[in-house]
Amino acid sequence: MSSKSPLSLNIAILGAGLAGLSCAIALAQQGHKITVLERRNALSEIGAGVQVPPNASRILISWGLEAELQAQAENRSDVLFVRYLTGETLARMPPASSDLPNWLIYRPDYQRVLYDAAVQAGAIVRFDVHVTKIDQDNTRLEIGNGEFLTPDLILGADGIGSSTRKTILNDKVELKVTTANYRVLIPREKMLQNAQAAPYLHNAAAQVWMGPGRTVVMYPIAQGKFYNMVLEHPGSPPVGKWNLAMDMNAVREQFQDFAAPIPTLLSLADSCYDWAVARVPILHSWSSTSGKILLVGDAAHATLPHLAQGAAMCTEDAAVLAECLARVTDRSQIPTLTTLFQEIRKPRTERIQAASDANSKRWTIPDGPEQEARDAKWKVPSKMADGQGANEFREAAFRRWLFEYDAVAETRNILDKAGF
Ligand SMILES: Cc1cc2nc3c(=O)[nH]c(=O)nc-3n(C[C@H](O)[C@H](O)[C@H](O)COP(=O)(O)OP(=O)(O)OC[C@H]3O[C@@H](n4cnc5c(N)ncnc54)[C@H](O)[C@@H]3O)c2cc1C
Repeated sequence: MSSKSPLSLNIAILGAGLAGLSCAIALAQQGHKITVLERRNALSEIGAGVQVPPNASRILISWGLEAELQAQAENRSDVLFVRYLTGETLARMPPASSDLPNWLIYRPDYQRVLYDAAVQAGAIVRFDVHVTKIDQDNTRLEIGNGEFLTPDLILGADGIGSSTRKTILNDKVELKVTTANYRVLIPREKMLQNAQAAPYLHNAAAQVWMGPGRTVVMYPIAQGKFYNMVLEHPGSPPVGKWNLAMDMNAVREQFQDFAAPIPTLLSLADSCYDWAVARVPILHSWSSTSGKILLVGDAAHATLPHLAQGAAMCTEDAAVLAECLARVTDRSQIPTLTTLFQEIRKPRTERIQAASDANSKRWTIPDGPEQEARDAKWKVPSKMADGQGANEFREAAFRRWLFEYDAVAETRNILDKAGF
């Protein structure tokens, strides 16, 4: 856990998603007064899996959350890349770290652990709060019931459709929608009743099945309570709507050309929801001109899910911002520190967005010469070595950069050099 900031700021956070709650924990642990304003009337993470890679688990452990998360999660072993038509494993990637966990967790469990930690650190979390106006000039929030808040800093942690972003960047951002994802959760009892499915519940590998325009990513979550499947397919459901119910028969039909056990697993699922796969383009700035309204999480840098780093970037944002604001001795320094925050975060999140885009393309290559060339390359284990390959995700140097990143230590170094 980190030290206390010399000056306690009043900070309002819009949104109690993974970004908002992570910021609430990190900043409240530094001694700031945190109010989280959530427009929904309760915690509402969608029921699906999320991977927590070592660059995020390092931070969560530093916040004192290791035991709580470990109690809810699976520890991922390898990642397998599989040819959809044959079920052949083309490549196997070992765990990203031997010291730090790569948790596979059920999103509502994750959000609950973060919420409890935020409250325990002293944050106030208010639900059913409707912000009617964000006044940029005066750093003031107007709430539906005639109430006003005038914090020192406002964080827009309000997700991919962020209204904070629309306010401070004048509505000019166009989201890039690529495909859609079906979300399937198969309960433990169903998995255990089927001889082909049952072993998957106890296999803590994450599997990426690559097909033309379609992928399946799957792994067990919640200590084997569910088997989690995410099925990417062409489509454009509305962005930010997570609960579009789909006809399971149509989903099975769409993936019936995938090899065993995919059709069997889908036969065990009763329901399925669709959501848009989208990203925020690179923004020239994440802050208002005053420097006192700042975007974090998906509002700033929503990414395609093909590197499983979107939530991890939320955790990193929180850790870096808390370190920046731990140096504040006077309120006039806030704009300089939020600018430094962006200078630290933007290059890293932009590289992660680009690597996710690249994965999205290479996983969905149509059958033919390009796919054959990809598969042949992936079968060569030496591709895991350092070098400038076309396959950055599997390059050892990239994996070190991604997974061994120590957000707190790096930020302290940069702040020391900047004279803070
Ligand atoms: C299919 C899929 C799989 C993924 N898998 C992974 C993975 O394995 N690993 C990983 O690291 N990441 C993953 N991600 C990405 C990750 O889920 C997101 O990056 C992360 O959840 C974003 O959190 P957030 O808090 O920024 O936004 P959100 O989760 O969208 O939360 C925003 C919150 O703000 C609230 N809100 C919105 N507007 C307002 C307002 N005006 N006032 C108050 N509150 C408001 C919303 O109700 C919501 O609670 C995945 C994403 C997808 C789509």
